[in-house]
Amino acid sequence: MKVPFLDLSLQHRALRTEALAALTATYDANRFCLGKDVEDFEKAFAATLGHPRALAMNSGTSPLHVACMIAGFAPGDEVITTPFTFISTVWGVCYVGATPVFADIEAGTFNLDPAKLAAAITSRTKGVIVVHLFGQPARMDEIMAVARRHNLFVIEDCAQAVGARYLGARPPSVADEPERPGAVALPRGVPVGAIGDAGTFSFYPTKNLGGCGEGGAIVSRREEIHTRARHIRVHGSDRRYYHDIIGGNFRMDGFQGALLNVKLPHLAAWTARRQAIAARYLAGIRLADVTLPATPDYGASVWHQFTLRHPRRDALREHLAKYEIGTDLIYPVPLHRQACFAHLGQPEGSLPVAEKACATCLSLPIFPELTDAQVEHVIQAINSY
Ligand SMILES: *Cc1c(COP(=O)(O)O)cnc(C)c1O
Repeated sequence: MKVPFLDLSLQHRALRTEALAALTATYDANRFCLGKDVEDFEKAFAATLGHPRALAMNSGTSPLHVACMIAGFAPGDEVITTPFTFISTVWGVCYVGATPVFADIEAGTFNLDPAKLAAAITSRTKGVIVVHLFGQPARMDEIMAVARRHNLFVIEDCAQAVGARYLGARPPSVADEPERPGAVALPRGVPVGAIGDAGTFSFYPTKNLGGCGEGGAIVSRREEIHTRARHIRVHGSDRRYYHDIIGGNFRMDGFQGALLNVKLPHLAAWTARRQAIAARYLAGIRLADVTLPATPDYGASVWHQFTLRHPRRDALREHLAKYEIGTDLIYPVPLHRQACFAHLGQPEGSLPVAEKACATCLSLPIFPELTDAQVEHVIQAINSY
């Protein structure tokens, strides 16, 4: 039985008629850059996830870049983040001339370790980018406590965690800053992206809510950040041909807005299916030496990836390939060991937990259209290793 690592064609075949009708309407109305489809999507996206407002952009990298511009990170400033993430997480820091600093992760969730974050802070530290990796919320209470103590700007990279909610204690950021205008109080159980100063999303086709092309969004519970992002998105401008701040072109296409409006109503069911598949994997996989992903009680994962660890993961991967099961190595190299960051001089061995995760991780198929039989086939194949 073939089990591809990911097959987008099933989802797109099912939505084909509806998607093409929506795209045709946008085409006929010439709504190509922002416009009604994108505005409708922003409202529905914010309401579905529980954010006060959202702004759609042209990729998931763009809102990270825009957030770094709004934070005011500048040359000489340090911004701490995880080395175990997709490279996009740190591009914005580089674009504004600041320096990324990588702090180690927790083994169980693969997310930034709050103690390692605290230990990496210097007098130059201005911000932190938290990634809710693989759909698993990071330990936000501890991270926000560190950030508050050092007055850091907190960006949440939610590219892999659309729809995830953080269930920990009420974030100190929401309760303790009435001095920040525009802050909207949120109840216990906050959507990721609403805890720090800004949250960013990606609608790259392989994400849990994927467009047919590039897309992303930024959210913030602070109204002035939202307003600033709205101006930066269209060339630093509120009125056409008057430019108050440095901006750029970060607009979402009308076609993406139209397509995402077709897909968004399915997100809850797709997420539930990912969670059901993960529950089967967690209950069924029984191989000595396999470490399954942690499932902490402060926030349920939306399972963008299901990533286990095994000391001989390359051999396990070959074994699964014989059973026609697709897997992936996410991620094979930590960011502090990427060639583009050689100048930062963070040597091998300096972030041992992330380095070990790269050497032992193996991601299994977990897209919503997998059948129960395919999921069982994966479990049997692993247990037979
Ligand atoms: C996908 C992703 C992004 C953004 O990627 P785009 O391809 O620009 O949409 C950012 N961070 C993480 C962790 C991601 O997985």
